[in-house]
Amino acid sequence: MTKITKLRSLLEEVYHLEAIFSLLSWDKATYMPKAAAASRGNQMAVLAKVIKEKLTDDNLIALIEELSKEKEEGFLEEQDYFLLRVAKRRIDEARRIPSSFLESFYKHLLQTYEKFLYARQENNFEIVLPYLKTTLDFSKEYASFFPYEHILDPLINRSDYNLKASFLKSFFLALKEQLLPFMQEILEMKGFDTSFLFQYFPKRRQLSFAKYIIKRLGFDFQRCRLDLSCHPFMTKFAHKDIRITTRVNEKDFCDALFSSIHETGHALYEMGIDEEFEGTFLNTGISSSIHESQSRLWENVVGRSIYFWQYFYPKLQDFFPVQFKNVTLEDFYKAINNVKRSLIRTEADELTYNFHVIIRFELELGLLEGSILIEDLKEAWNEKYRKYLAIAPLNDKEGILQDIHWYIDYIGGSFQGYTLGNILSVQFYEAAKKEYDSIEEDICKGDFRKLHKWLKDNLYIHGNKYTTEEIVQKATGKKLVLEPYLNYLKNKYSNIYFKEGSILNG
Ligand code: ZN
Repeated sequence: MTKITKLRSLLEEVYHLEAIFSLLSWDKATYMPKAAAASRGNQMAVLAKVIKEKLTDDNLIALIEELSKEKEEGFLEEQDYFLLRVAKRRIDEARRIPSSFLESFYKHLLQTYEKFLYARQENNFEIVLPYLKTTLDFSKEYASFFPYEHILDPLINRSDYNLKASFLKSFFLALKEQLLPFMQEILEMKGFDTSFLFQYFPKRRQLSFAKYIIKRLGFDFQRCRLDLSCHPFMTKFAHKDIRITTRVNEKDFCDALFSSIHETGHALYEMGIDEEFEGTFLNTGISSSIHESQSRLWENVVGRSIYFWQYFYPKLQDFFPVQFKNVTLEDFYKAINNVKRSLIRTEADELTYNFHVIIRFELELGLLEGSILIEDLKEAWNEKYRKYLAIAPLNDKEGILQDIHWYIDYIGGSFQGYTLGNILSVQFYEAAKKEYDSIEEDICKGDFRKLHKWLKDNLYIHGNKYTTEEIVQKATGKKLVLEPYLNYLKNKYSNIYFKEGSILNG
């Protein structure tokens, strides 16, 4: 057995164990009886320990060191070079974090999550505050295991490898400065009638419409499943086993449909990865920002576009004749793109959404840098909402307790991917349109083949070979840039809000 085959087989064991771990998490979020939480926690803890032992095994480390020398001498094939690079990163991370630290952190998180649920039920942040304080200590300690320029960097690395806090600070500042005046101008306008989106829409009917749409978008029911969960998500166990979830609100048409399209974007990405990468660390998307660029591309850039609904609106009217028979396409399009001040991130429109993310990013920065004390976090949250969106939560559920992120993981690095994803969704889309100029005409006919082809050839096929920065450069010929996204938002919303006459004509 050559060294590289040996490495591949050792890593493949880890890969499959991690897939099993994901399967346990998926089951926990979908079908597991509530009472099984504790036993599931034990099962997952044991498995996590086995995975860590495999990843930090001396034989594996020795092998990686030998192969790194061969790499320097140029003996490795391309795919193995990338596999080795990703493996080194994963192993380095696993070696730096002491098992005892992880054990006590996960124990702490179990309690925190319980307290979080109770705090939400009671609508009282104070209940979970002491636990969050400990989570912040754990997050700082996690960062201390790595060399860094900024304390947030190691935490960002977990989801967006190699992106730096210093870059994000200035990038988000530029976004804020350029978007804020335009957003405020729109927020001053009278909004559109959205009442028809909040009629009664039977659950089964909503699900069958969502299934119809995602199938048309390329979701392959032979390789993928759609299930229900409280918080929609996508997960993957193998090249031919990808799962997404959605949730249905019978009084809100948008929830199930757009979350299904969003998760389908994640699934299309995973479906398109080179089948050769099955069983390796390359068989996954690159980072949270690249992944979100795909979910947001399908959810917003395509799924909330006029082109898309020119084709699909008559189909929607067939599905829900009573609810939509007296609503024109134009009114429907305006309603699903209505911009308003709101408190809940996941329900926000495309324009205000980024401020929800920037608020959280700035709070994470402040907590880790020490300029915001955890005791003042709730007030800092409310203050930022007043500042950017001129609105403030009336209670904790609408504010500091709305997102699950800080209560199930470290504090830091968990939100930037959403806004970077928005920005990148347009950068990729523009690059695709440059290569195939009929993409939008095709979308008007319900045909997504050219867009799929561009995404697959330039993004999906490469799996996890490159870093975020590398793939953006490779696919678009540019670094991550703001302009395409800002132009997209300004064109789209000027057209919706300021254009005289019908928006359908040109
Ligand atoms: Zn997502």
